[in-house]
Amino acid sequence: MTTNPAVRTRFAPSPTGYLHIGGARTTLYSWLFARHHGGTFVLRIEDTDEVRSTAESVTAILDSISWLGLDWDEGPLDFEHEKGPCGSYYQMKRLSSYQEQTKRLLDEGKAYRCYCTREETDAARQAAKAAGQPVPEDPCRRLSDAQRRSNEAAGRKPAVRFIMPDEGETVVDDLIRGQVHFENRLAPDLVIQKTTGGPTYNFACVCDDHAMRISHVIRGDEHLSNTPAQMRIYEALGWQPPKFAHLSMILGPDGTKLSKRHGATSVTEYRDQGFLPEALRNYLALLGWSNTESRQLFAPDELVAAFDLPGCQKNPATFDPVKLAWMNGEYMRALAPADIVKRAEPFLKEAGLFPPPPGPSLERLAALEREKFKLLPDVPGRVDFFYRETELTDKARKTLAAPEAKTVLAGLTELLTAFEPFTEKPLEEAIRAFCARKSLKPGQVFHPLRAAVSGRADGPTLFLMLELLGREAVLARLRKTSAGLGPN
Ligand code: GLU
Repeated sequence: MTTNPAVRTRFAPSPTGYLHIGGARTTLYSWLFARHHGGTFVLRIEDTDEVRSTAESVTAILDSISWLGLDWDEGPLDFEHEKGPCGSYYQMKRLSSYQEQTKRLLDEGKAYRCYCTREETDAARQAAKAAGQPVPEDPCRRLSDAQRRSNEAAGRKPAVRFIMPDEGETVVDDLIRGQVHFENRLAPDLVIQKTTGGPTYNFACVCDDHAMRISHVIRGDEHLSNTPAQMRIYEALGWQPPKFAHLSMILGPDGTKLSKRHGATSVTEYRDQGFLPEALRNYLALLGWSNTESRQLFAPDELVAAFDLPGCQKNPATFDPVKLAWMNGEYMRALAPADIVKRAEPFLKEAGLFPPPPGPSLERLAALEREKFKLLPDVPGRVDFFYRETELTDKARKTLAAPEAKTVLAGLTELLTAFEPFTEKPLEEAIRAFCARKSLKPGQVFHPLRAAVSGRADGPTLFLMLELLGREAVLARLRKTSAGLGPN
């Protein structure tokens, strides 16, 4: 890893909702790139859409980024506090800087005031399109001073449009996609200042990326089509544009753009479903980036060391929930039992198991079952029966429907009533001897025993499970289940 202070990346969310998988991946790649090169990662809040931007969304986005274990060197800490030398990182607090640059473009004849309503502009464009014509020239490009004054006198509030070239092409040299050519005649003059006086996204983005000395703009490919206009604005203002890297689209398993239809799409939802942040982060790192070794699991430092833009794919990436769940299981297994319990605390609480009721320690149970945990809610889901009786699962019910089940349970009740010591090995020996005496196969005894005491057909190793449950619970459940099976 090098230290290159010239490398400055940013994530620039519009705070209109939660942080989605696509945004989280953009954040991660921008962060990884900055960290890999020893540069700076900036967070900027693009809140100029006053109707849709909310404070809750800012908080949710910052929380999600932090939850993923990513930090930013410059940007907002909360609503009052910010860090970094570039002034505010909220666009709404930078309005005067956009107005200043708009004025410059107006003064230099590179932009003009446009008095057309949206309806008028749309109608003119549609008519041209229907006639197979390119985008028509905006009538306000050539207004005389008198016409302008009469518009103002009529109370029409102007937007400001940036003059796009009518001919030729603009080439975006993208670090992931290579050269992408855009025909200028297809691009209308871009509104840079709305009638309200606020900037549009494309303009504010350019002004800020320049002011914040962003060297690499890494973002989703839905913004590729905005890039030629942004490059033209850089040129008009005499600024050096940053390098662009547009990340490929994320598709759902059915090959359509990832959306709500495919299930959870926000980081918050994954957190609430019990995914581990490090697993989601690792998974997102591989969603559109491949490493030469085709490795799957990366510690954060290893990711920082391995990540670079040339490994990012042009083709869409497919979001695979099965792989994500597998990866989460891998990370769960790698945690120390005490850590599993700590992470699962909210889910244990929700299940009424935290603080744990009398019984074996949660750490002990986590150690016993950790191979089988995939998500955090699996922790209460797999250990609850140690603390309380649970409903029989369908599989357990089937096991208990075997003709010999009731006599087996009765025999085991008798055997275990006074059995000493009630510990794993002696229990195993005694129960195996019981099978031999009764000429039963081990499965004919073990399966109903497990089903009766745990309510399920699978679980931890049987004899240790009996030891941990303790004689009292084992006998009570054997009797109760047996009674529930009806007469023999
Ligand atoms: N505010 C834009 C968005 O949320 C940012 C686009 C960009 O990164 O330039 O999509």
